[in-house]
Amino acid sequence: MNVLLVGGGGREHALAWKIAQSPLVEHQWAAPGNPGIARHARCLDLAVDDADGLAGFAVAHEVDLVVVGPEQPLVGGLADQLRTRGLAVFGPGQRAAAIEGSKAFSKRLMAEHGIPTARFATFDDPAAARRYCRDLGAPCVVKTDGLAAGKGAIVCATLEEADAAIAQCMDQREFGAAGATVVVEEFMRGEEASFFVLAGAGGVLPLAAAQDHKTVFDGDRGPNTGGMGAFVPVAAVDAPVYARVMREIVEPTLAALAAGGAPYTGVLYVGLMLTAEGPKVVEFNCRFGDPECQSLMMHMRDDLVPLLAAVARGEKLPAPRPWASAGRAAVCVAVASGGYPGRYTTGHEVTGIEAAEARPGVQVFQAGTARREGRLVTAGGRVLGVTAVADDLTAAVAAAYEGVSHIRFEGMHYRTDIGRRALEVRAT
Ligand code: AMP
Repeated sequence: MNVLLVGGGGREHALAWKIAQSPLVEHQWAAPGNPGIARHARCLDLAVDDADGLAGFAVAHEVDLVVVGPEQPLVGGLADQLRTRGLAVFGPGQRAAAIEGSKAFSKRLMAEHGIPTARFATFDDPAAARRYCRDLGAPCVVKTDGLAAGKGAIVCATLEEADAAIAQCMDQREFGAAGATVVVEEFMRGEEASFFVLAGAGGVLPLAAAQDHKTVFDGDRGPNTGGMGAFVPVAAVDAPVYARVMREIVEPTLAALAAGGAPYTGVLYVGLMLTAEGPKVVEFNCRFGDPECQSLMMHMRDDLVPLLAAVARGEKLPAPRPWASAGRAAVCVAVASGGYPGRYTTGHEVTGIEAAEARPGVQVFQAGTARREGRLVTAGGRVLGVTAVADDLTAAVAAAYEGVSHIRFEGMHYRTDIGRRALEVRAT
């Protein structure tokens, strides 16, 4: 089978690594890829939103499966454009990807179909948004309608903070057009988990649940980032929670999309809050999480490729085997540039990847790297995802941090508590 992977971040490195292990795969290409992905796939000088270029390449090289990693091209309609050229694509079309691309759309869908989520309202007028915050009371959450690179949800402890967030989105337009419309919602309390399902015309297949760490500093302090680490599985998502999420959230959401003429084809990421009243949706994403994907790919025992291909072709998916990867855990620790998520410099030499990968169960997925004059250098905020799989979470955390101990680049920083709170909770 010939596979074309679209994207060039840490998530796509993990996908490329997993896809390359499949005995079904003959050739793998990545557009644009990165130096880590280049170890598993031929990298192409094509942008993720170059539909004509990607389609032309895929047709000429008899690509059997296109896997789209990032959200921007999906929300922009790449999967539809490739499908009209007769290609089998893993990734939702534009109308289904609106479940991530527009919070107003996804919240309306949930409200109309009784899918549990935070109480909310949508606003084009800042004064009306401020009034609604006063109805809800603090804390509350202000979100941009459109994509804002993971930074469009502002949790506000006070009404003053809510007013400032509304001004930031709607008056100062800090997030551009994405913030012209905002969703204001009630603050939910509970443990968060990310629940992943593969979904296509041939059924639904739940994968494991993950937990990520969004803030930059230990103890969940500091500003939000794209994600500083993740682990799989999440003990709180046990069999009853899993069944309830499928019944109350996943199945009605997929049915509602299909009934609205936007059937889902790809991976649906359900951001959950496990509240006292049961699991509720924080957000939906139309792709794998980054860095959750790095942990998920290492955790998964099954061959991923037949599953991606079945989704893309609308073929029947195998029966759910929720515990197929039982008896193991995986942890990803993001190693970031100094200053990230604020300003940072790039071009610093990265060393130690080979030594890290010499440790049992460790893989280093590259996110923000580039090759310059034969040297690997930093080229982004999150540079590496040092990921480990082991028999349990304790061992996986230890192995991931052993891996990290070999990595060196100027200014590097990482959280030291990835997966550790889950271990403490379990121990008490
Ligand atoms: P989102 O971009 O919608 O996933 O939000 C980013 C983060 O903000 C989430 O992972 C939560 O930690 C937090 N958050 C978003 N919405 C809520 C909410 N209604 N209640 C509590 N926390 C929230």
